Amino acid sequence: MEKKNLFGMTLPELETELSDLPKFRAKQIAGRMYRQGATSFDDMTELSKNLREDLAKKYFVRSAEVVRQLDSSDGLTTKFLLKFPDGAAVETVIMRHDYGTGICISVQVGCPMGCKFCASTLKNSERNLTAGEMLEEIIFAENFLHRENRKVDTLVIMGTGEPMLNFDNVIKMLRLLHEEYTLGLSYRKVTISTCGIVPGIYKLIEEKIPVTLSISLHAPTDKLRSEIMPVNSIFDLTQLLKAGDDYAEETGRRVTYEYILLGGVNDTEEHARQLAKILSGRLANVNLIPLNPVDERNFQKPTHNAIQKFFHFLNTHGINATIRKEPGADIDAACDRLRRKNLEKK
Ligand code: SAH
Repeated sequence: MEKKNLFGMTLPELETELSDLPKFRAKQIAGRMYRQGATSFDDMTELSKNLREDLAKKYFVRSAEVVRQLDSSDGLTTKFLLKFPDGAAVETVIMRHDYGTGICISVQVGCPMGCKFCASTLKNSERNLTAGEMLEEIIFAENFLHRENRKVDTLVIMGTGEPMLNFDNVIKMLRLLHEEYTLGLSYRKVTISTCGIVPGIYKLIEEKIPVTLSISLHAPTDKLRSEIMPVNSIFDLTQLLKAGDDYAEETGRRVTYEYILLGGVNDTEEHARQLAKILSGRLANVNLIPLNPVDERNFQKPTHNAIQKFFHFLNTHGINATIRKEPGADIDAACDRLRRKNLEKK
């Protein structure tokens, strides 16, 4: 019989799965898996040896293995490549900020969206991660951080993959993460980033969980956006901005628009003017991201001058903009490169 993974089950699911045992066992096991970092039944010393052996015959509790760890030279960012039993590997990033510790998780192995500047999409998409696998990225990071007296304070769903394409698993994971028997993480500490799958934004509104929505905009006109992001041919700017407005209105939360500055492509004053125009009057922030160049792609970094001018233009034209610091640029912080390097080695 194939062994079943208990990790990723909610408490009610565990109770059903372990219905032969007294109910409090499910709670003990959940606490051990989700709060105390148990990676096997052997770590659950309050269970009798016999029970541990019985459980281990039918179940397991964690499945990911750390294949690589990279630390940025400034010590602020650590990136892990985690591998699941089927060989699928994903990147998880820890970012140590002065206001707390953030982690960035992947939701798919590879990505099918085809954004022209992005590394995640180079090898296509292999599969969705399960809720348990995404939770494992987080619980792994939490336990890693305990050693430095830190914990996961904020979660950004901005790693590899498109969350709206793995919607149900992402929501299941967030609801589980919110439970007191896991990390009890507030929804307000969570950001979900989408390339602009409009129906997904409306589904997220329906969930009624107050997470921050981040929209990867990257261009101020349909023509340019369709050139660099194929998704724009399906959901255009008018539909996308309307969905962003509806999200802000329904949740009362300001939407973040991500805007990668691609040297010479979308970073001129004219682009800044167009961007300010389409966002004016909207409950929005703009996060400017200097491109992290990908070897296989032909985009250039923006100049320092172009970044500053773009930033200044937005802020003097009524748009609240920030420039993203480049955490861990020396370890390619968020760009799926570790996974691909690992694939190339095979
Ligand atoms: N699919 C989601 C989340 C993953 S991408 C989305 O598109 O939002 C997370 C963020 O990283 C997005 O804003 C994405 O556009 C950005 N990104 C992708 N490639 C990048 C690169 N080469 N340099 C800088 N940011 C990049």
